[in-house]
Amino acid sequence: MNERTEFETGRPVVLRGGTVLPMDGRRVLPRTDVLVSGDRIAAVGPDLDAPEGAAEIDASGGIVMPGMIDTHRHMWQTAMRGYGADWTLTQYFVWFYLEYGKLFRPEDVHAGNTLAAIESLDAGVTTVVDWSHGLRTVEHADAAADALQGVPGRYVLAYGNIQQPPAEWTTAPEFRDFVSRRITGDDLLGFQLAFDVLGDPSFPERPAFEVARDLGVTVTTHAGVWGATGDDGIRLMYENGFMTPGTIYVHAASLSADSYHRIAATGGSISVSTESEQSAGQGYPPTWAIRSHGIPVSLSMDTSVWWSGDLFSAMRATLGADRSREHLEAHAKGDTVTHCALRADQVVDWATRGGARAIGRDDLGTIEPGKKADLVLIKNDASPVSFPLLNPFGHVAFQAQRGDVHTVLVDGRVVKHEHRLVGVDLAAARAQVDRTIEYLRGEMGEEAWEKGMNPDVPTSKVLDNPYTYTDYRSDSTHRL
Ligand SMILES: [Zn+2]
Repeated sequence: MNERTEFETGRPVVLRGGTVLPMDGRRVLPRTDVLVSGDRIAAVGPDLDAPEGAAEIDASGGIVMPGMIDTHRHMWQTAMRGYGADWTLTQYFVWFYLEYGKLFRPEDVHAGNTLAAIESLDAGVTTVVDWSHGLRTVEHADAAADALQGVPGRYVLAYGNIQQPPAEWTTAPEFRDFVSRRITGDDLLGFQLAFDVLGDPSFPERPAFEVARDLGVTVTTHAGVWGATGDDGIRLMYENGFMTPGTIYVHAASLSADSYHRIAATGGSISVSTESEQSAGQGYPPTWAIRSHGIPVSLSMDTSVWWSGDLFSAMRATLGADRSREHLEAHAKGDTVTHCALRADQVVDWATRGGARAIGRDDLGTIEPGKKADLVLIKNDASPVSFPLLNPFGHVAFQAQRGDVHTVLVDGRVVKHEHRLVGVDLAAARAQVDRTIEYLRGEMGEEAWEKGMNPDVPTSKVLDNPYTYTDYRSDSTHRL
């Protein structure tokens, strides 16, 4: 039986005997079945009766959890995966605003989005908010949407165009035309507006917020990015009545308590991109600060020009950054942290239910009858890291990785099974990305290409060490 007939559309699927994390609290359901019928979860329980002809998937020894949700990723940038590994925001802004961002053609956006979408499915990320701020023309936007609709996942196109003021592109007739042509209620393609509020007292972003209100869509905005957006932007949004429930504040890493109060009071949520904040310099990953404000959190990867698009990394990095800061703050006062405040189950919640809440989808993010069947089975019998399975939340957050993603369902459809993607043309995606790289490299020239990838390293002096008797550093046989 080939993979297409094995999982033909509409065939019920039952995942047998897994450790199920329903994400309705800290419950763990051992040896539990999950039955999927159509696009929904039909039943959850032990030894379920499955309809005749249902596809059976052995989940024993594995973990069944809701599909993960990334609430902020610039998917088009995946076309240049890993290029900016050694960047800060400074290099990123040059790359995006002044150089490569202007070179991307619609087919390059298509290439990046397609690869990012496939990568997400592979990693068990079943929904991604595509923070698509490289849409210089509507042709770019059509290419972005085509790519998202060409890969069988769930996406939210957060439309943005960094090359024009938001008041301009959101009020252009061709933008309205795009929305009426492409945003037609497809359950697998949501829509948001993506732009930043820079703090200009005249609040030039007002028309863009009004367009969002007219369209009935939410806004996602980079807020609290050191050197770019800060408390002034938050205050202007608040004073003008645009801090509405559903607004997603990305990073929110260098904001005052006053801004956090405003976010908490108006029902928004924060998308934390810990790996990004740690390397790029938006500010310290804020989870340790915002828990005292009761603001809902979701997780995101930001961009694969630095990091890979999997939320295992995000969960792990977020736990580490939060605990690291707690210890640091305590040590500065001569105290000792004896109990961690942030638990593994909390980051798993942020990666699933937290994302669903952030994008206003209460039919996603948990495993309950009637919810959409976006599911992940983590199971890898060949891996020594797959057992013993004692603490399932801890296992997901600190032990598992994308190679352990055995099966993925989106909207009831099996898109990955036995560690292999189903119905995805990776070779075609590779050919597209190859063409994009060839074009960009040719346009930039070899020297600029190499220089962009290898920023200067600041000089740092090795300190004189009073405990050194011999100056071994001058000895060519010894190297530090
Ligand atoms: Zn971003």
